[in-house]
This record gives sequence, structure tokens and C-alpha cells, in this order.
Amino acid sequence: MLSSRQQQEIRACCETVSFDVSMAAYSTFKAGGPAAALADVQNQDQLAALLEYCRREAIPWRVIGRGSNILVTDSGFNGILFRLGAAFRTVGLKNESEPEVVAAGGGCLLADLLGWCRRHGLGGLEFLAGIPGGVGGAVRMNAGAFGHAIGELLHSVSIIGADGVVKQKTADMLSLGYRCCTVEGYDPNQAIILSVTLRLQPTDGEQIARDMQNYMLQRKKNQPRGVPSAGSFFKNPENDYAGRLIETSGLKGARVGGARVSPVHANFIINDGGEASAADILELMHTVQEKVKKETGIFLEPEVHIF
Ligand SMILES: Cc1cc2nc3c(=O)[nH]c(=O)nc-3n(C[C@H](O)[C@H](O)[C@H](O)COP(=O)(O)OP(=O)(O)OC[C@H]3O[C@@H](n4cnc5c(N)ncnc54)[C@H](O)[C@@H]3O)c2cc1C
Repeated sequence: MLSSRQQQEIRACCETVSFDVSMAAYSTFKAGGPAAALADVQNQDQLAALLEYCRREAIPWRVIGRGSNILVTDSGFNGILFRLGAAFRTVGLKNESEPEVVAAGGGCLLADLLGWCRRHGLGGLEFLAGIPGGVGGAVRMNAGAFGHAIGELLHSVSIIGADGVVKQKTADMLSLGYRCCTVEGYDPNQAIILSVTLRLQPTDGEQIARDMQNYMLQRKKNQPRGVPSAGSFFKNPENDYAGRLIETSGLKGARVGGARVSPVHANFIINDGGEASAADILELMHTVQEKVKKETGIFLEPEVHIF
């Protein structure tokens, strides 16, 4: 809980802040407890001032993007969640002398980045079509599909750490793995990606549009539609698929309260009817982990970030 003094001081740094906010409204799961504060930071100065305030007052913080891969427990997050506002949502060429290097703000929607690339005839990111979320979240998660991940095209990132210092890191200075990206010397949950640059290839815009359309169609065929979820809940173990293991363990359709293993794709936990609590989802997660471990000997690690 933030005291009323702290709330006032936080508001003095950033007017676009709300207190005791249910995170169900800010996650694609449509479930989860409250955050003590949700601050939509409008520029780097506001962010630096709030990070300095969190340091001084020992207030926990974390950044979120579009909430498409998170679950906040029902007891809530007792600190400030940052979201990157307008100043962090730009897309453009890094500079005229490098016409294949695109710069995008960490708060930019992936869909907006992909639309810009299509209009400007720069290809490479089409496989991301249909993945919800922002650029910062996608890089943090090294989001990917169809055998590719965003990290393959990453040129550099600009990050701000808990100390408020902004640093540029080239891609070779990052550790990019399966659904994860870390930077040496930083706690990955305490490093905010402010912007990124990506090296793309000149490609016909219509071809890009067709490829994006095809990727989206494949998603529509294989994934549950119109129900709240965070996409694939578990990471695929090496040389196998979490969905296959869950299905062969007889858990397709399994339910705890409002949480259900999707009957369409067993690696999706869905919030069926929109009434699931975070506790329902976590209990179902544990049930799946235990049964799959018992049946196959494999422990499924969640891909979704739970805090
Ligand atoms: C229907 C559906 C389909 C999906 N399909 C895919 C898929 O095919 N492939 C795939 O990889 N993912 C998929 N996802 C998961 C999700 O969309 C991606 O992981 C996405 O990149 C997360 O972005 P976000 O902005 O929503 O991040 P959030 O969910 O808000 O955050 C995820 C993590 O990133 C961190 N983070 C967010 N922004 C920043 C930032 N600026 N700097 C540093 N850290 C940050 C957060 O602290 C958190 O730890 C799917 C999700 C849904 C709902």
C-alpha cells in the first residue's frame, strides 16, 4: 500500500497515474489482482524521476507492455507498474544513411511497427503478425513464431536501469534465448527497454502483406479465438511441444474455476467466461505441471510472467 503522501509525491512526478488499479483490465488474461499504482510515463524525464523516487522510498516497480504475457496474483503488486506512453511509441528510420535500420519505441505496438514496415517496404518481421503486445515486451520475451524470433533482427536496444542511467547495448551484448532476453549486469525485471533498432530487408510491401496474412490465418486455424488468455502458457521443452504433452496427459479441457485448458490448443490456458481469478489460473497451472511431470517426467516451465 502506498501512503497518501507517497501517492501525492508520485502524482507530482507523473499526472497520468492511477492507484489501486485492477490489473484484470490491463492484461489479456482479463484476470489478476490490483497494482498499488499504474503510471503511464509520458517521457524519459518522468520515468527517471519515478525510478529515483522508487529508489528513495524502496518502492518495488516493474514495467509492463500490453499485458499479453503477464499474470498479477490476486494479492496484487505492492508497488508501481510503469507503462510507456506517447513519447515511446514512435517508429521511423534510425537515420537516412541506414535505410534498412528501423528505430521503434519500447511502447510501440507490434502491429503498428509491422504496419510501418509494410508501408515502407521493409521485411523480416512478418512472422510476428498477430502477436499482441508492444516492442519492449516482445524484445524482453524474445517473442517469436514459425521458427523465428525478434532477437534475430535486433540491432541495438536503449535501456534504463533501476539507477536511472540510460545505456545503449548492441545485440551482441544481449543474451537472447527462447522467450527470454537478458543484459549482463541487469536484473531483467529491472531494466526498461526504451527503444530498439532492427535491421530489416527491402521487400515488396504487397509481399509483406501477403506473408502477414498467411501467418495470421495459420494462427486463426490453430489457436482459440475471442477468449481471454496469455497465448501459450508454458514454454516448449527441448524437442517437444508443451501442448502435445498436456494433451497426451489427458488434460485438454481440464478446468479449475473459470480457468480452463483450451479444447482448441492445450498450451493455452483460457479465462473461460471471463470470471477466472489468478488463483484459478495458478491452480490449473500446478495441476498441469504435476500431471505432465507424472505422465512424462517433464516439468513444464511457464512462459507467462507471474508477479
Ligand atoms: C493470443 C495470444 C497469442 C500470442 N502468441 C504469441 C506467439 O506466437 N509468440 C510469442 O512469443 N508470444 C505470444 N504471445 C505472448 C505475448 O503476446 C508476447 O510475449 C508479447 O511480446 C508480450 O508483449 P507485452 O507488451 O504484452 O508484454 P507484457 O505481457 O506486458 O510483459 C511481458 C514481460 O515483458 C516485460 N516488459 C514489457 N515491456 C517491457 C519494456 N519496455 N522493457 C522491459 N521489459 C518489458 C514485462 O515486465 C514482463 O516481464 C501471445 C499472447 C496472446 C494473448
